[in-house]
Amino acid sequence: MSKRRLSGSLSIVASLVFIVSTTLTGCLSSEEGTSGSTVLDPAEHDVSTIGDTEIADETRTADWLAYGRTHSEQRFSPLTDINRDTVSRLGVTWYRDLPDDVALVSTPLVVGGTLYFTGTMNIVRAVDAVTGELLWEYDPDVAGAIGSRRQVGWVHNRGLSFYKGKIFAATWDGRLIALSSTTGELLWSTQTFDTSKPLYITGAPKAFRNKVLIGNGGTEVGRARGSVTAYDADTGDEAWTFHVVPGNPADGFESPAMEMAAETWTGSWWEHGGGGNAWHGFTYDPEFNAVYVGTGNGAPWNRRIRSPGGGDNLFLCSIVALNADTGEYLWHYQTTPGETWDYNSTMDIVLADIEVDGSPIKAILHAPKNGFFYVIDRETGSLVSAEPFTRVTWATHVDLETGRPVETAGARYPEGEANVWPSPHGAHSWQAMSYNPVTGLVYLPTMHLGGRYVDSGLDPSWRAEDFVGGNGVGVWEILVPDDMPPGALQAWDPVRQEPAWTVPQAHPWNAGTLTTAGDLVFQGRYDGVFLAYDAHTGDELWSRDLGLGISAPPITYELDGTQYLALLVGYGGGYAVSFTPGLPDEGWAYGVHTRRLVTFALDGDTTLSPQPPPQLPEPLVAADFAIDEELAVRGQGLYGTYCSICHGGGAVANAMATDLRASSVPLSRGAFARVVRDGALADRAMPPFATLDDEELDALRHYLRAKAHVDAGVL
Ligand code: CA
Repeated sequence: MSKRRLSGSLSIVASLVFIVSTTLTGCLSSEEGTSGSTVLDPAEHDVSTIGDTEIADETRTADWLAYGRTHSEQRFSPLTDINRDTVSRLGVTWYRDLPDDVALVSTPLVVGGTLYFTGTMNIVRAVDAVTGELLWEYDPDVAGAIGSRRQVGWVHNRGLSFYKGKIFAATWDGRLIALSSTTGELLWSTQTFDTSKPLYITGAPKAFRNKVLIGNGGTEVGRARGSVTAYDADTGDEAWTFHVVPGNPADGFESPAMEMAAETWTGSWWEHGGGGNAWHGFTYDPEFNAVYVGTGNGAPWNRRIRSPGGGDNLFLCSIVALNADTGEYLWHYQTTPGETWDYNSTMDIVLADIEVDGSPIKAILHAPKNGFFYVIDRETGSLVSAEPFTRVTWATHVDLETGRPVETAGARYPEGEANVWPSPHGAHSWQAMSYNPVTGLVYLPTMHLGGRYVDSGLDPSWRAEDFVGGNGVGVWEILVPDDMPPGALQAWDPVRQEPAWTVPQAHPWNAGTLTTAGDLVFQGRYDGVFLAYDAHTGDELWSRDLGLGISAPPITYELDGTQYLALLVGYGGGYAVSFTPGLPDEGWAYGVHTRRLVTFALDGDTTLSPQPPPQLPEPLVAADFAIDEELAVRGQGLYGTYCSICHGGGAVANAMATDLRASSVPLSRGAFARVVRDGALADRAMPPFATLDDEELDALRHYLRAKAHVDAGVL
């Protein structure tokens, strides 16, 4: 029952929702304001002029101005008050409960004493960075914008962008919006893609040179063609667009780059969209006035369907360098030519000046899903080095002469089935890595998993269905290693291309990192523990159990002479949809634990109100529900198509959605129809499935009841 159907989708994120309240009832801890005044001198905190110079300034410590702190995306802070000697004094200064939020994965920004963050349903909030007081909140009404279109995973967003007095946010339904950073007033809103297409946005926009760049996701949701577009920061007017993969040649190519890319595709790829959606990994490089875009996997995953005659399929799974002013193609480096495993290269792109064999290199550091750590010369796009940071079986190595991976026989599941490492979750996903120029190390959250890819029996004429999705290959099992931990925090030396130290972790889904000149690395873990490590040795120096899984990276800033750390606590992301057999059950059952924004400082003495203990859903036994086995079997197929992406494989849910085995809604025909077909909970991200007829709804109910009784041991 846990097998995924061939057209099932694995890696996109999820949601759900059987709670009813839609209001923000965020409450402050009673100790609010104990850290003192936040009155900032307007002359020193005029944010309307903060632009590229300030965002690129690595020495600026009062703020956290961009997703990766500065344009370099290093997530390194020069602050030293919290250091190896003092970190034991770290405590909570204030926190803010976010009871209506679900998954929190975003990086806050701090500008001029105000902390900005984005939460569930793309709600943007501004709070006083010293006291936590709510200054303003902007709700873009994502449910209203989605309407009746089926959507999945829409509780997620990874962050915001700031530029000259404006906060930029991108919504699940594809709007890019500009807000006044002081008032939260909407300044402009632009729809970035055709809403009839199966696309969505989970990423943070990237602001530079008075423009704002955004891409989108969607390769698992239907026929998707990836693109990124830059908009004018003042007006929202389009400045330029770069398509990641070519369209139908009969329609003409948008650019010479698309004409070049089309040479690497075969068959009728445009009928599938092709993919390459850039949903994360945008870096602006002031030194070369370039934007580096990390691109996604193919749509569908399986190259035999997408491009049946083979080919590299540019610009899938690549870093593409574009002229920041025009969007013109400069160079590309493709990490996974002809990808067929969901090996996105959308992971963060970090800029660093390093020295290799005595030569200074303006480098890009990049650790995509495919398991290799890449150092790329960003002036030329040429590969400097690449080595695996986990078990990699799809390729033996990367040939430094050609810059290409050397694939292993059988990696492309030619016999219809193969075990391949890493898994589609990736050896590294969107969880941020950080680079410390003092230690010269990258602090990388890694996952050591494989996948059993199965496409036997698939009709080559198969097509993904828009908003239903499908990958053209199933992952029937996530492989958990028995000879190494499933996860690890690795301190990676990008010059030697080897780990300097490694902290094994019992679970793969841990959060992104922050590193500081205080010789520290901070990371939150799947089990709710927030830790500080010695950046040189990996020794654990401090930890605090926050009572709920952590998936967001911490930030740090300094105001009124105090260094703060801020962190969103709320387990989430694609992996958080369901459990993986063989790994620890997290116990972050949906709707049980309160999501929070928590801030720390030295000698902080605020007590967090306690969270309930970890809980696993208990399947509800309803002895008087007469299960029709035939209906239940049919319902299992429907569940795999429509429900599992949020509610978990085998109806076993996790933090992101209600466990339907434990829900009373399927007991009632009327209540089930109101929620599932009529959209009674659409404003809390449960989409309406208007096309399901009465018999299909009954089949789903009978499957859910059968699964509940099987798992409760009464059937
Ligand atoms: Ca993907």
